[in-house]
Amino acid sequence: MDFTLSDEQRLYRDSLRDFVDREIVPVARDWERSGRYPTEIVESMRKLGLFGLAIPEQYGGLEVDTVSFALTFEEISRGWMGIAGILGSHSVSSWMIAHHGTPEQRDAYLPELATGERRTGIALTEPGAGTDLQGITTVARRDGTGPDADYVITGTKTWITNARHADPLPVLVKTDPKAEPAHRGMSILLVAADSPGYEVTQDIGKLGYKGTESCEVVLDEVRVPSSQLLGGVEGRGLQQALSSLETGRINIAARSVGIAQRAYDEALSYARDRTAFKQPIGDFQAVQLRLAEIAVQLQAARLMTYWAASRMDDGVRMDTESGMAKIFASETALQCATDAMRIHGGYGYSTEFEVERLYRDAPLMSIGEGTNDVLRTVVAKSLLAGTASVG
Ligand SMILES: Cc1cc2nc3c(=O)[nH]c(=O)nc-3n(C[C@H](O)[C@H](O)[C@H](O)COP(=O)(O)OP(=O)(O)OC[C@H]3O[C@@H](n4cnc5c(N)ncnc54)[C@H](O)[C@@H]3O)c2cc1C
Repeated sequence: MDFTLSDEQRLYRDSLRDFVDREIVPVARDWERSGRYPTEIVESMRKLGLFGLAIPEQYGGLEVDTVSFALTFEEISRGWMGIAGILGSHSVSSWMIAHHGTPEQRDAYLPELATGERRTGIALTEPGAGTDLQGITTVARRDGTGPDADYVITGTKTWITNARHADPLPVLVKTDPKAEPAHRGMSILLVAADSPGYEVTQDIGKLGYKGTESCEVVLDEVRVPSSQLLGGVEGRGLQQALSSLETGRINIAARSVGIAQRAYDEALSYARDRTAFKQPIGDFQAVQLRLAEIAVQLQAARLMTYWAASRMDDGVRMDTESGMAKIFASETALQCATDAMRIHGGYGYSTEFEVERLYRDAPLMSIGEGTNDVLRTVVAKSLLAGTASVG
């Protein structure tokens, strides 16, 4: 058993850490508050090749191992979690095209997605269906009968990260709305952003996760060539999306570790600097207990996240492991952000300090890529069915 990163992983993490400290940490608070899009950071991430994280080398991607993938999201989220969102949805979608796309789709999109020249996201959720994806109502009907007949999509997607920058946007649709069970009639279509009838209609106001946009997308009779059916087969869309969310859960667990690490860093430094009753507040046992608890939870979340990531590199199907890591790390991020805020006293509530952003960003980690309650039921079902075990 080895709990250390390889030399290559350590070097990779250190270079990312430098980038985050130099380019994200100094601007995060002001840019977040002003609602400014982080164009310069996106450009630097492009130069670092980060848009190619989940893309095979043959298409110009970095194709990093899953632990390095996690390190990327951890470090960036330590600086500003919203930035990790820009990269996260792009990586989930790129992974999905790389693993499930036809050779023509891979050739057409992956090289430009790897450089960030093209960007993408993933459109699953609808106003009436999030967890219950089989309940979506977006429909793609064929305009004609042959295998080359275009699809015509009608429906509305919501909460779509990167919607204003995604091209193509993979959209989960029903190609056979009458299919039973419903997933057999679900497919993913790669929709070009300039398609007539495709419109990003609103940016949704939100508590945190600023920096990246979350939008409603309306598809009104959008015509999509049959060549844009992901993998060239109907009826696989839900499975294609759900398998991609496995890497998404590692990414969310790692983002949570980054938030918790920042909460720890801020709490530690505040506990040393702030004085009350003529002594640093870190001398008070109540503050020490809270600080130690942040450190314990943070380190446990990190180990669990790296464990789940390394299992994925073993080529093992790991819904249970990634789900467990995502649940634990996201609850940890919430708790650590709250505790760091308490250690800051009144200043923790001020927009002049970093902890209030951590407090606003952390809750999303328990919602995205499967709510924690739903993931708990997934973990429990696999344990009960004996397809996964603990111990
Ligand atoms: C900032 C942000 C960014 C997002 N980005 C994207 C994106 O890029 N692409 C995308 O497709 N979606 C995105 N989403 C949507 C996100 O994936 C959904 O919000 C999430 O899946 C939950 O769906 P819902 O909001 O419809 O909640 P619901 O499914 O309505 O759930 C409501 C509550 O019911 C509980 N619940 C539901 N079903 C069950 C069940 N079977 N058992 C137990 N409890 C249950 C849930 O745990 C939750 O507490 C984003 C959301 C946010 C907030």
